Amino acid sequence: MLKTFSLTDIGRKRSMNQDFVFSSENPVGNLPNLFIVADGMGGHNGGGFASSYAVDIIKQSIESSEAKDPEELFKSAIRAANLAVRTKASENSELIGMGTTAVLACVEGDTLHVCNVGDSRLYVANKDSIRQITVDHSYVEEMIKVGQLDRESARTHEHKNIITRAVGAEDTIESDYFKVKLKDGDIILMCSDGLSNMLADDELLVILKGGRDTVSRAEDLVKAANEAGGKDNIAVVVIEVLND
Ligand code: CA
Repeated sequence: MLKTFSLTDIGRKRSMNQDFVFSSENPVGNLPNLFIVADGMGGHNGGGFASSYAVDIIKQSIESSEAKDPEELFKSAIRAANLAVRTKASENSELIGMGTTAVLACVEGDTLHVCNVGDSRLYVANKDSIRQITVDHSYVEEMIKVGQLDRESARTHEHKNIITRAVGAEDTIESDYFKVKLKDGDIILMCSDGLSNMLADDELLVILKGGRDTVSRAEDLVKAANEAGGKDNIAVVVIEVLND
């Protein structure tokens, strides 16, 4: 059984909220459930449009597909969203250059399927530890890979917002897929960088462990990100996995 709660918050510095979340504990097409976080970018209304539109296209693609494999469903949905966002941008000069991150997840029994593009993240936490499952497609992550930057400095690096892949950025898109075995009591956290740039992983764990339920966990995360400065929009999805 899943218990879930999701929310977005504008934060304390931005005038628009360009983050978008989708959460369904019920089947979407051939998937038993579906969770998405998208963090849009682009001037005017581009970013906010890109994130909500990409999520719509991803949902439609999964609903209309006969495929059963989550990896295949996720990857083709992200390709469909990429094409749709690029087409819209080419039709409207105010939307040129818009794009969005996307992290998609679905829980099938004790297996978690995840797909991502950009720097929105998925973590799995239990009472002892938290681990980031997705790997950011970002400039700082590339620097870490080649040993030019350590993880702690990356969080506050001046170029931490530069992402190397996004839905809508190029004609072709490659997303990464991860499969995770879940244990009873695991908590899944999906978020935009407005949360992960404000709070370190160990701070995320403390808040997740301290909450009474999914609602208080999600609300406490947003509150802590705002108290730490709230420099960006914040999107959070919390999923608790209870084996019954
Ligand atoms: Ca952001």
